[in-house]
Amino acid sequence: MLYFRTLVLSLVIGAASLAPATGKGPGGSVSASDALARLKAGNARFAQSARTAPKPTRARRLELAKAQHPYAIIVGCSDSRSAPEIVFDAGIGDLFIVRTAGNLADAYALASIEYAVEHLGSRLIVVMGHENCGAVKAALSGEGAPGHIGRLLEGIRPAVEATRSTPGNRLDNAIHKNAGLVAQHIRREAELGELAKKVKVVSAYYDFDSGKVSFGAQH
Ligand SMILES: [Zn+2]
Repeated sequence: MLYFRTLVLSLVIGAASLAPATGKGPGGSVSASDALARLKAGNARFAQSARTAPKPTRARRLELAKAQHPYAIIVGCSDSRSAPEIVFDAGIGDLFIVRTAGNLADAYALASIEYAVEHLGSRLIVVMGHENCGAVKAALSGEGAPGHIGRLLEGIRPAVEATRSTPGNRLDNAIHKNAGLVAQHIRREAELGELAKKVKVVSAYYDFDSGKVSFGAQH
């Protein structure tokens, strides 16, 4: 099963592909705390409209064609306004990103995370919700939806229930809670073996107006 999973992901994701499942990331892994500092610094530049991310030149593309070592994994919402590379002033090859509406982590997302930790050396996982998230808003409305959207709303429902009597803005409370619950889910469900000790999972909230990302509890 592990071999099959690794093989499939290698084919899908490419790069560093047939790395053996040694349980150790490649040399030069950026620690979780260094990665968090790097994300914070990048977001500060973004919020001040002072991005410095290097251009994806041909030289950089050729370098990355050999291998990738993204320093952080971002589990974000598919919302077009919350693109992680831009919000964290990062370049290609810097971030390993999983995006779904409502920043949920299903089995495929967990597999992608496991791959990045085991084979690409990433040690920080950030689950980032954002201001005015339409997926959380839809879940909050209590109205169902047909098909796959209905299933997605069910995935957000626990955050809505958990914040039902929390004072303050109901939508913001549910967005924060949803990111926290997904972070806990990843901490609990991702099969990281020995590497789990080195990995941190952090929830975060991106504010459109200020451009700032605030980070929550670490798991
Ligand atoms: Zn959203």
